[in-house]
Amino acid sequence: MVRETRLTPESFVYPLFVCPGEGVRKEVSSMPGVFNLSVDEAVREAREAHSLGVPALILFGLPETKDEVATGAWADDGIVQRAARVIKQEVPEMLLVGDVCLCEYMSHGHCGIVKPSSPRPVGAAVATSPATGTEFEIVNDATLELLARTSVSLANAGIDVIAPSDMMDGRVAAIRKALDEAGLENTPILSYAAKFASAFYGPFREAADSAPQFGDRRSYQMDGANLREAMREIELDVEEGADMIMVKPAMPYLDVISAARERFDLPIAAYQVSGEYAMIEAAARNNWIDRERVMMESLISIRRAGASIILTYYAKDAAKLLG
Ligand SMILES: [Zn+2]
Repeated sequence: MVRETRLTPESFVYPLFVCPGEGVRKEVSSMPGVFNLSVDEAVREAREAHSLGVPALILFGLPETKDEVATGAWADDGIVQRAARVIKQEVPEMLLVGDVCLCEYMSHGHCGIVKPSSPRPVGAAVATSPATGTEFEIVNDATLELLARTSVSLANAGIDVIAPSDMMDGRVAAIRKALDEAGLENTPILSYAAKFASAFYGPFREAADSAPQFGDRRSYQMDGANLREAMREIELDVEEGADMIMVKPAMPYLDVISAARERFDLPIAAYQVSGEYAMIEAAARNNWIDRERVMMESLISIRRAGASIILTYYAKDAAKLLG
């Protein structure tokens, strides 16, 4: 009766990594218990999660091929589009969130279009490629067009919530406009509004095969030292039409979740990322910590900080414990 914060499976979003093939269930070595799943296996996971009371999935895709314009992200027969159609048919009550980014589908692994820098750069620097010595940069506005195209394609395939994670400037407005023009006015946007450039994403890049081939993402993701900048980024996304906002990672940024809760009245999501999961799993496997207790404590702390939606690899396991 006196407990201030409660954890329920209704707040969980369970991430799935969908890959080509059939009967594929390949464990991610740095994330024990997390798998690359072919569409048929993803349906099985969706069914199980649903039976445990988990109401939503977020889908990430591992395409057959990658290129310089992220075709796999926006193609009608893209891997996430195919998975969404089948899951919607087999488990219609499951809410599907579609991660919108290009890095998983780009041969270079960056979240946007990358071009060699001209003498007068138009975008944020990414890196100098060690092989050629050429400077590269992200081309923000051309990237927006691909993100918008991806969002419309996902929504048409049955994705209920569009979740842009790329951190390009102006992408929420561009996606909102494209969805509206396609007659998808009712598709909401969950924006990764405060996404920090974090080493905690390491294991995810193995899971989604999306590590940048050169340089890093610090020119478009946020500096972990900046709380005020995080608030400004969130505010911009709200102004552009975001319906829900996300802070990522969760544990090292609980103060950001809390500050966002104070300041904004939209639903707030937090992503307990791969590195947070991997640390708990590794310590538990060494019998250094009590896995179940640490898992539940980590989740309740995210709720206490103010997130009403938690994206977590523990969705199924925590839902089991919560009964
Ligand atoms: Zn990305």
